[in-house]
Amino acid sequence: MRIGALEAGGTKMVMTVSDENMRILGRETLSTRTPEETVPGILRFFRDQKIDALGIGAFGPLDLNPLSATYGNITETPKLAWRHYPLLKTLREKLGVPTALDTDVNAAALCEALMGAAKGLNSCVYLTVGTGIGAGVMCNGRLVHGLMHPEWGHMLLAPHPEDPMPEGICPYHKGCLEGLASGPSLEKRWGVPGQALPEDHIAWEIEAHYLAQFCVSALLAISAERIILGGGVMAQRHLFPRIRRETQRLLNGYLPCAGNMDSLIVPPACYPDSGMLGALILGKRALEEKK
Ligand code: ZN
Repeated sequence: MRIGALEAGGTKMVMTVSDENMRILGRETLSTRTPEETVPGILRFFRDQKIDALGIGAFGPLDLNPLSATYGNITETPKLAWRHYPLLKTLREKLGVPTALDTDVNAAALCEALMGAAKGLNSCVYLTVGTGIGAGVMCNGRLVHGLMHPEWGHMLLAPHPEDPMPEGICPYHKGCLEGLASGPSLEKRWGVPGQALPEDHIAWEIEAHYLAQFCVSALLAISAERIILGGGVMAQRHLFPRIRRETQRLLNGYLPCAGNMDSLIVPPACYPDSGMLGALILGKRALEEKK
């Protein structure tokens, strides 16, 4: 059995093929250009690899309502060439194999829940903090979809009193998580990329304040048993103790069961492959459902 995984990102498309035991058999990366320029390369790779099923973890927003006429389409993305592109339908029809689609962060949450940092738990949240911010959510063993899918990157936050840019950079909202805490927001605020800032810079206190508000919300809103923080910005590992302390401070003793922050707020176990492995699991499930 050969399972394909597509990580459809805003800057690159990573294509992987594995056997049924998740042993990697092939991989190729393409730059994300327009669908007309990019999709033929994706189809060629997966055709050459003779896959039996495909799982896709994609940037969004996506239409994930199976009853919708536009199920599997990319929706209101700022990447204009991909707006309303029927990603699932195109790949499923052209490749002729069982194909499943979810958000890139739901795929990562699925991987971490089944084989990584939240293994054995019923609920977890995976937050990626990079060029953008997005969260995948697993509740009672199932990935969360609803009106659309979680868009936690745009939750509104209370500004840090010393933030020189408290409205953030999101074109849609003032003071949302992505606008205040993404990699580009750090760079806009301080004039240099995050990795150029020393560990004792106030930037990290402010960053931790925003990410801790997300953690508090995940604990209070869905009673998450584990919060997994991944993505490029979280390569700054000194953020973890800061975020744990700030989460405790903001909770102010309200959730005594959230006592051990070290095991509650953690890095991903499968990074940087969480999204790819999650997409493989989606592909494997699509094949099993067809049987
Ligand atoms: Zn926003």
